[in-house]
Amino acid sequence: SALLEVEGISVVREGKKILNRLSLKAEAGQITGVLGRNGAGKSSLAYAVMGLANYRPLEGRIRFLGKEITDLSITERGKAGLTLAWQHPARYEGVSVRDYLRLSSKGAGEKDLASALSLVLLDPKVYLERMVDKNLSGGERKRIELASVYLMKPRLSILDEPDSGVDLLALGEIMQVFRLLAREGHGVLIITHREDVAAQCDRSYLMCSGAVVLEGSAEAVKRYFLSQCEPCQEAVALGM
Ligand code: ADP
Ligand code: MG
Ligand code: MG
Repeated sequence: SALLEVEGISVVREGKKILNRLSLKAEAGQITGVLGRNGAGKSSLAYAVMGLANYRPLEGRIRFLGKEITDLSITERGKAGLTLAWQHPARYEGVSVRDYLRLSSKGAGEKDLASALSLVLLDPKVYLERMVDKNLSGGERKRIELASVYLMKPRLSILDEPDSGVDLLALGEIMQVFRLLAREGHGVLIITHREDVAAQCDRSYLMCSGAVVLEGSAEAVKRYFLSQCEPCQEAVALGM
């Protein structure tokens, strides 16, 4: 069975169905993409998989490593090997990047911390001493978050728009970090609204109005997204 199996989940917030019988799978050793425009429900999907209290599905099931996790707490899911890198990572006053990375990667030495920062193109000599506070730009914060995920080596990393605030040049390098994780046998689920990011995944899902409207090779999904995204319009017309 797949590492993560989401089977027909629906989530309602304030009377609105923000996930509608959504199903998808993520395999170990692969990068799976979820592509969708703003408001499609991508972050809500990430929250439901992580088990946030207000995103409990009304119907459907979530399985991880073959076991049902639909009713587990966030902590239990974390222990099972699920990690979410948030679309807007938190800032912590008074915590250095070194401490932050150490916390997320029990047992990592100074060398590991430095090489993780290098992987996301941040100079360890400069950044280990910096604080994870408001003086970091959004892009720097995203990269530090990715370095911490890399050190954590979760069985499945869910990355909510890891590309936001990261310039085009750095993006290719960032994708290499995910590639490394996948090559080590971990699963990676990348949420994005950029078709060029989805195109670099092993396979992708196109999401629209809370549902998966297309599943296939990343290239096919990209082509569809760019052409006209007809199923999205259909979904809107059907009130999905
Ligand atoms: P995406 O991440 O694809 O941009 P979101 O998951 O953030 O999409 O949002 C999906 C839809 O659900 C949007 O229409 C949004 O307005 C709505 N939504 C998200 N969170 C909430 C909430 N807490 N309460 C009400 N509506 C919400
Ligand atoms: Mg959004
Ligand atoms: Mg989002």
